[in-house]
Amino acid sequence: MNFNELKENILMCQDCKGKFGFAPVPIFHGNERSKIMQISQAPSNNVHITKKPFNDPTGAKLKYKWYQITDDVFYNQDNFYITALSHCFPGKNANGGDNLPPLACARKWLTKELELVDNKLFVIIGSKAAKFLFPNENFEHLVFKNNLINNKPTIVLPHPSPLNIKWFKDHPQFEEKRLKEIREAIWNVL
Ligand code: SF4
Repeated sequence: MNFNELKENILMCQDCKGKFGFAPVPIFHGNERSKIMQISQAPSNNVHITKKPFNDPTGAKLKYKWYQITDDVFYNQDNFYITALSHCFPGKNANGGDNLPPLACARKWLTKELELVDNKLFVIIGSKAAKFLFPNENFEHLVFKNNLINNKPTIVLPHPSPLNIKWFKDHPQFEEKRLKEIREAIWNVL
């Protein structure tokens, strides 16, 4: 499968229709040579509706506060390849939170994206994506050190969701120190 076939197949995928109970909307953003591959958990309901990744409060914090870049830079597909464990919003659970991402999606599509995209840097967002890609490593350690996937530099970020307040309270050194190093690594690649 080449890159264009992969893209077509992801955009047509409806594997989870029965599991979700609604028609999945696969989100695809990027090209074969995007500089940074960003891998998160799953699109939110807002992204499902608008089909624009990180078009929500989580995205605002990530783009403007953490990366300190404009939408023009973030949504330029030569810059960011935006993917996730689940390419589709997985629906809501009984408590109002989002369902867990179907890992079958990551096994089927993300593993191929990792093979076919010629990026320079990976940015992994959140503990669930980190667990899939680094199953034997401690999440906190991953955030505060430089990592590798396919021999390429890899940054691991906590989830920027406004609901993740406790993690930031428990780890003040992330925003005080580590975030500056991460931002510089991203700017250097852009
Ligand atoms: S989440 Fe992934 S596997 Fe499921 S329908 Fe969407 S693209 Fe297909």
